[in-house]
Amino acid sequence: MTPTLENVRRYDSALRYQVPSRRPKVEPYLVELDAFNDNGECQCEHFSCRLGPLLRAGLTPEIAFESGLAEVPTWGTLEDCLRCYHIGLARAQFADDVLREIRIRINE
Ligand SMILES: [Zn+2]
Repeated sequence: MTPTLENVRRYDSALRYQVPSRRPKVEPYLVELDAFNDNGECQCEHFSCRLGPLLRAGLTPEIAFESGLAEVPTWGTLEDCLRCYHIGLARAQFADDVLREIRIRINE
């Protein structure tokens, strides 16, 4: 199943989102948007095994890319090199949520 933003949901705080897996019968992943200096952190295998260790080692997306340790994801930019697909979806939903809240406050 390809997740859509409709089933990416804010979880228990403004910066924590639940994102469905693309694989069937896998529980949704929890994404913390502000972890690793706003890179974000996810519970999925790709992040836990590959991207997280690079961040814990202190690599930036630029260094990881230039060293050949990370690739620019098809859905993102160089800044997304150390983000999994789920973090990308959570950031997109976060932007939608913030825009909606700003629109509501402007119209009050
Ligand atoms: Zn993930």
